[in-house]
Amino acid sequence: MSTAEVTPPGSPGPVGIAHEHADVTGGWLRPAVFGAMDGLVSNVALVAGVAAGTSGSSKAVVLAGLAGLSAGAFSMAVGEYTSVASQSEAAEREIAKERLEIQNNNTAETLELAGMYARKGIDRDLALEVARQIHQDVDTAVAVHAKEEFGIDPDDLASPTLAAVSSFLAFAVGALVPLVPYLVGGSVLWPALVLTFVALFACGAVVSQVTVRSWWYGGLRQMLLGAAAAALTFGVGSAVGASGLG
Ligand SMILES: [Zn+2]
Repeated sequence: MSTAEVTPPGSPGPVGIAHEHADVTGGWLRPAVFGAMDGLVSNVALVAGVAAGTSGSSKAVVLAGLAGLSAGAFSMAVGEYTSVASQSEAAEREIAKERLEIQNNNTAETLELAGMYARKGIDRDLALEVARQIHQDVDTAVAVHAKEEFGIDPDDLASPTLAAVSSFLAFAVGALVPLVPYLVGGSVLWPALVLTFVALFACGAVVSQVTVRSWWYGGLRQMLLGAAAAALTFGVGSAVGASGLG
């Protein structure tokens, strides 16, 4: 069969597609899209609930939506900052430990590195020579050990501030979408729903590019999850509004 010849070994995907690797290392696009989806889902739900409970008062919707945007974006940023900072601190602690080991036990660490290369199939003498040359400079040795032992690049640790700012912005952009129709003078819910569902579909389709799912499945799934969130709060809002509490 001719198709078998063009299928790369171990390739799960369909035949004839250019060999491109998904960004699995965590570029900016993925967190940005996830942050935006969070903003979309949480604020469309908020807007739907308030619109249902206040029989469509656009002032109440805008007020609640902007409060939801600020609160959500800030909370995302705080969470992201804490998570990335603790990760980076843990990495720095491991790197410092490794540096101390390399300074105090250079021979043992050289042999350790040579052993790692040998396990990858490199000839023992060559592995030892490579490890020796790497260990001529402490910084280089630390960087190589960090990379080989715990997959960390000491010069490229994630910045907690950058992570916090980008997740704040991503959430805010997503959360703004359901508010746009109200901000330009609209007073009914459906344009906010349509706009948000389209945006959720787009985000889901983008995220599916790094999975084996098709773009329309990813898009549709994200849209339905957003719709479920909006339906739930719409129900709550309606019930509260009808009970006279709203
Ligand atoms: Zn080591």
